[in-house]
Amino acid sequence: MTIQIQPNIQCENCIKCGRRPHIEQNKKYWAITCPNSSCKNSVKALIVDFDAWNRLNKKTNEIPATTEPLKRIA
Ligand SMILES: [Zn+2]
Repeated sequence: MTIQIQPNIQCENCIKCGRRPHIEQNKKYWAITCPNSSCKNSVKALIVDFDAWNRLNKKTNEIPATTEPLKRIA
């Protein structure tokens, strides 16, 4: 079963192809999945894990310029 993600949900597009993902419901888990199967881009979890998807698909150049200066790499 495939579910469209509502436009008011903050959700990054697929980092590979730029398409908006959709949600697939399986018996044991939920998956946020790129509709382009060749991307093999999906996040499976017991919940619809937008945080994980957004972390994985966030483009580095979208990090706000107001973040602190680079921290020392220890
Ligand atoms: Zn994709």
